[in-house]
Amino acid sequence: MTSDSLDIVSPADGTVLATIPITSAAQVAEHTADAAQVFASRVWSGLAPRERAAALLRLAELMERDFETLARLDSEDAGKPITEATEGDIPGAIESIRYFAEAADKLYGAVASTPGAVLAFTQREPFGVVAAILPWNYPLAMAAWKIGPALASGNCLVLKPADATPRSALHVASLALEAGIPEGVLRVLPGTGPITGAALASDPHVGALSFTGSTATGRRILVAAAESNLKRVSLEMGGKSPHVVFADGLAFGDDLIDGLLTAAFVTSGQNCTAGTRILVHESIHDELVARLVAGAAKLNVGAPSDPETSVGPVINSVAADRILAAVNSAVAAGANVACGGAEVDVLPGGRYIPPTILTHVPEGDPILTTEIFGPVATMQRFSTREEAIAMANSVEYGLHAGVWTKNIDDAMACARGIEAGVISVGAYSEGDLTSPFGGWKQSGFGGAEKSLRAFDQWTREKAVWVQLQGQ
Ligand code: NAD
Ligand code: MN
Repeated sequence: MTSDSLDIVSPADGTVLATIPITSAAQVAEHTADAAQVFASRVWSGLAPRERAAALLRLAELMERDFETLARLDSEDAGKPITEATEGDIPGAIESIRYFAEAADKLYGAVASTPGAVLAFTQREPFGVVAAILPWNYPLAMAAWKIGPALASGNCLVLKPADATPRSALHVASLALEAGIPEGVLRVLPGTGPITGAALASDPHVGALSFTGSTATGRRILVAAAESNLKRVSLEMGGKSPHVVFADGLAFGDDLIDGLLTAAFVTSGQNCTAGTRILVHESIHDELVARLVAGAAKLNVGAPSDPETSVGPVINSVAADRILAAVNSAVAAGANVACGGAEVDVLPGGRYIPPTILTHVPEGDPILTTEIFGPVATMQRFSTREEAIAMANSVEYGLHAGVWTKNIDDAMACARGIEAGVISVGAYSEGDLTSPFGGWKQSGFGGAEKSLRAFDQWTREKAVWVQLQGQ
């Protein structure tokens, strides 16, 4: 590694997988200026939407062709269990490109109810050059949520993958060319946050920037946008998502146990919607703890390349130390470790933390309110529905919440009362591509991902007022 390159380090065993140049601030400026010219040339924005759709559908085909490569790259770079990549991330990414491709020629503006001598209508237009800055936990899936609608609506996109996980997006950039998407329409610029990301956030050519990552970085990007060209910013950030389990929740059987375990431990809990706060009715607390502990014991902690692995390593040593420090400090304050809590050896050079569930955490402990971003869930008891909703809302985040009851009044009271952008009832789910995804409170704002609503992030509305003569 030199000061202008990044080592891509395997979370599994610490080996260096690749060394990738860091895109400098000066190179970012050249890329965005050049992207502005590509946009102005209309080589992409001037195509019929149907033709952009066809090119993006070809891209999806090529991603399908290179499925195994893409899965391996994300699994290696992020330390993600290979089955998660093959069953979740990569099919999801391909589906996303297809969904937005198919939508390209199905977008409509509106006609206003003006008096007869006027025709007033609205239409949505691309910004020109747009940017995306991505996290490392779902590298290709997050890239596809941005690439799909940004390109389908005619923009030129400059995308910065996370420092640790650039390889799948770089591969997709090469597939885009192969699919016939003109050169310069999709640029993947690997690099670090302070160099490459910061340059994009303050770049004068970038009209809109969609960020997914931590709340701390989101704040910086908003400041950079405010102090540069006031680019439009969409922020998809952290979470501390609750799952509210009512007294009848056990009636969901294994769906409840599997749902809560997946919510808490998928991608080693390094997930924005990780269900890290299990709020359980006091009458079933002990039974639910026992069932979750039994279920967690069946999750294999292992190397990401092993198809039997459910929980892989955490992303790096800094993260492992931070996660373990939060657990140890909660335990020192009186929390009880129901399972996990201490690192296990899988491969030297990797840091593996097993599914960890804490009960009896003292009120006020930071582990109850801060995003830990590791395989750690806490359990808290409630006695009334009002209390559960208040507990759910007691953190600064508002990304997702799960509600487990078959009582429609309790379910809907939670769905209405919990401040979060996405609620799932009787499941842990972010919804599919047809359903918008975005956070409330300090989990984000500025536009949804997925669904036709995603186009609002990547287009701007124009109102056209036409005074008609002789009518
Ligand atoms: P991060 O904020 O550390 O980094 C995200 C990206 O921002 C990276 O590409 C990084 O290089 C870049 N960056 C860092 N500093 C920057 C700066 N000053 N200017 C511009 N860019 C900069 O986040 P992470 O560790 O990669 O990802 C984990 C976080 O992402 C968690 O908080 C998680 O909840 C969140 N996340 C949110 C969603 C969502 O949809 N809401 C999805 C996935 C992850
Ligand atoms: Mn980070």
